[in-house]
Amino acid sequence: AERIKVHNPIVEMDGDPFLRDEMTRVIWRMIKEKLIFPYLDLDIKYFDLGLPNRDATDDNVTVESAEATLRLLHYCIMPLASPPTKWYNVAVKCATITPDEARVKEFNLKSMWRSPNGTIRNILNGTVFREPILCQNIPRIVTGWKKPICIGRHAFGDQYRATDMIVKGSGKLKMVFVPEDGGAPTELDVYEFKGTGIALSMYNVDESIRAFAESSMSMAFAKRWPLYLSTKNTILKKYDGRYEHRLIDDMVAYALKSDGGYVWACKNYDGDVQSDFLAQGFGSLGLMTSVLLSSDGKTLEAEAAHGTVTRHFRLYQKGEETSTNSIASIFAWTRGLEHRAKLDKHEQLLEFVQKLELACIETVEFGKMTKDLALLIHGPKVSRDLYLSTEEFIDAVAQNLKDKIQSSSS
Ligand code: NAD
Repeated sequence: AERIKVHNPIVEMDGDPFLRDEMTRVIWRMIKEKLIFPYLDLDIKYFDLGLPNRDATDDNVTVESAEATLRLLHYCIMPLASPPTKWYNVAVKCATITPDEARVKEFNLKSMWRSPNGTIRNILNGTVFREPILCQNIPRIVTGWKKPICIGRHAFGDQYRATDMIVKGSGKLKMVFVPEDGGAPTELDVYEFKGTGIALSMYNVDESIRAFAESSMSMAFAKRWPLYLSTKNTILKKYDGRYEHRLIDDMVAYALKSDGGYVWACKNYDGDVQSDFLAQGFGSLGLMTSVLLSSDGKTLEAEAAHGTVTRHFRLYQKGEETSTNSIASIFAWTRGLEHRAKLDKHEQLLEFVQKLELACIETVEFGKMTKDLALLIHGPKVSRDLYLSTEEFIDAVAQNLKDKIQSSSS
């Protein structure tokens, strides 16, 4: 059959071609070979975000990959390394390694490069949304969740940019704001310490709050789902009063009792905590997708929520069998291509994307799955005949996809 021509390019943020970005990189290559390239005639703008190349380019490659994806220049808060001539609006990203001290040694790095996701998020100034992929036969801890909950996190400011201190003894804690225009400073009494303790000062900015609100509304609108925002404005009247809100206490109670099917916009810390709570409640990390959406809803970067699955890669390196779930990585491709299809009004591409997503879900629902999911169904004593290897699973999805495409074209 003829491949579908994709009218505009997408940005691919790959791991290391020499497989040093671990298990997800192994999966990523199989997905391209078996599920994407046989069906799509696709112009890919390729960026190698593997650690060796990030090190060789002083991490400029990460900045360049984000700039190529970016559309809204005026939200850019980092200097442009080399302004591209065209924005592509769509990126798919393989999981990458965020180096720690051990990685600096392992890869002999010049510097402990920052998380690529942080760099990309800063440049796109978007909001990260996580959403689970539901399969009927995968048990959920929260059994009432029949539809996904898509959780967005305002990943700027608050606790993550706070200044904290240890108070060494009695004294007065004050908060002072000095206006740049020379106006009178505002000075507030915070607390009169009678002994030792701790203190913290934190902030956020209206521009970022507004961008977060706009991304959240874009996401809810694209999904045609209701949108809730949780805050604590009964306590932080002024701080959380900057948001139109639902009380976090009520929202958590509502989330547990609901059957899903909405976007939940969270403040920074709540989003950090609640997205792990949702991942647990829904089942597996291998079924969690993550998209970064710009505030105007035009630019989207999609990836799996999990990391490079180092533990499995160590087995793979020893030549042992692995059973790594590729579904969230496949959905990085489908969610990115879905956005491309919507921007380009490309019906045929949208249909392909829907078939590929369904092929993944049905493969699991037919009982063919990787070990992480088999464990959820059968418990810790799962036997080898109840799950597939990494490659066997992708092959099963590829076969299912092929059948769907052939049956719809005949
Ligand atoms: P991880 O998500 O890679 O794996 C943690 C554990 O979760 C695994 O040991 C495995 O038991 C399970 N798991 C995760 N995904 C799975 C899948 N698809 N199939 C089956 N089981 C799965 O997190 P980690 O081990 O903490 O981090 C490994 C590396 O990934 C680190 O170098 C870290 O910097 C990086 N990381 C990258 C991203 C990203 O690029 N978005 C996110 C998180 C971690």
